[in-house]
Amino acid sequence: MLSGWGNYPRVEARLLMARGRDEARAAVSSEASLIARGNGRSYGDAALNPNAVLSMLRSSRMIAFDEESGRLTCEAGVMLADILDVFVPRGWFAPVTPGTKFVTVGGMIASDVHGKNHHGAGSFTEHVDSFDLALADGQVVTCSRSENADLFAATCGGMGLTGTIVSATFRLIRVESPYIRQETRQAANLAEAMALLDQSASSTYSVAWIDCLSTGARMGRSVIFCGEHALPHELPSPPPKADTRTVTMPFHAPAMLLNRWSVSAFNEFYYRRNPAGTAIIPYGPYFYPLDAILAWNRLYGRAGFVQYQCVLPKAAAAEGMATLLRRIAASGKGSFLAVLKQFGATNPHGMLSFPMEGYTLALDFAVDRKTLALLGELDAITGDHGGRIYLAKDACSRPDLLRRGYPRLDEFLAVRHKVDPDNKFSSLLSQRLGL
Ligand SMILES: Cc1cc2nc3c(=O)[nH]c(=O)nc-3n(C[C@H](O)[C@H](O)[C@H](O)COP(=O)(O)OP(=O)(O)OC[C@H]3O[C@@H](n4cnc5c(N)ncnc54)[C@H](O)[C@@H]3O)c2cc1C
Repeated sequence: MLSGWGNYPRVEARLLMARGRDEARAAVSSEASLIARGNGRSYGDAALNPNAVLSMLRSSRMIAFDEESGRLTCEAGVMLADILDVFVPRGWFAPVTPGTKFVTVGGMIASDVHGKNHHGAGSFTEHVDSFDLALADGQVVTCSRSENADLFAATCGGMGLTGTIVSATFRLIRVESPYIRQETRQAANLAEAMALLDQSASSTYSVAWIDCLSTGARMGRSVIFCGEHALPHELPSPPPKADTRTVTMPFHAPAMLLNRWSVSAFNEFYYRRNPAGTAIIPYGPYFYPLDAILAWNRLYGRAGFVQYQCVLPKAAAAEGMATLLRRIAASGKGSFLAVLKQFGATNPHGMLSFPMEGYTLALDFAVDRKTLALLGELDAITGDHGGRIYLAKDACSRPDLLRRGYPRLDEFLAVRHKVDPDNKFSSLLSQRLGL
């Protein structure tokens, strides 16, 4: 049985393992229908195919590193956590990182992931020079902005549907310490939160945690965390020790644990626990607060959960986000940690890349019979405000919203049809959305 991080949906599938390029190529050639899988941190059904799922986790060798430029070449199954373990002590960091380090390089390219620095650095594939891709016909081709450029653009954010990435070269960034100077601010409501994110455009990193259940004048109250890589002279003596301890959620929580009262109580606690101020903290708790609780996805119960993440264009964002939040608060559903981020004006080259200039909201919903109806309503609000949903999180959306939200969809489908006319690379997500 396999699932994404949300444990919904779950399917029975054959899991194949590829260690390196030749095994990946052989697996692709021998299957009529399959999808690549990294570490299964996409939430929904993007890395699921009931026929065959090709795990790239054993393709985990780092191949080359250039100390001058920060260029790293590695196999697609290398985990971001391993890259950070090796390179942070040497003064390098990921150019863009999602909110968990338990993702693979292949997964980061296929979802064209974004981080808290999108407004300045763009999404991950802006920092990718090239990758080798195993195609449906068994060939392995190199793709870059100058070689197989169309295939490069279709694969960045292409959710594994153009081929299986076997290795990649991308650029790390220099950092002077493993610490972040975090500045915390509080916003009383949504308008203030968006204004503060706007004003934080000069911060390298910014993100708002948003209380999705507060209503009225407090609707959208938030805690905003801005961050800079700390300089050595800013560190206190002795510098705070990185706490590498983890705890594991040992079982699926009972569904009744998550209700309007428990979530509201947590949100109140979290808001009060994070007053305005500045602190130097290790990079781990800044970027990956949830990674300290292994298997936290069990918190949402055995039936699993879905994460809803959409982006709305800047002009429509204030009105659209308020409408979304009102609808979510009225439903009484919602997650402990809803996140609001700003996306910058960089135009991603990926044909199906998620970011567009504006604001993105992400939050979790436990799966039950009312959730699907609510998600349909949120999709309609997103579509009506010119927005789109993030495929790496999706488990429920429909083809019409995809078409409305992704203007380069036909371009993507044309490239895909050229390299994979029989749709060998296929996932539950692609089947559901007609991709
Ligand atoms: C706690 C948490 C926080 C997150 N925060 C963020 C965030 O801030 N920003 C963000 O953008 N995302 C975020 N994500 C989502 C996550 O970054 C993406 O879903 C990422 O793609 C997961 O990588 P993975 O290796 O686990 O890939 P998987 O989930 O296994 O696969 C994801 C997609 O990539 C494809 N794929 C994987 N490997 C390959 C390959 N070798 N070749 C071709 N296709 C491949 C799969 O087919 C699938 O379509 C978060 C997820 C979690 C659980």
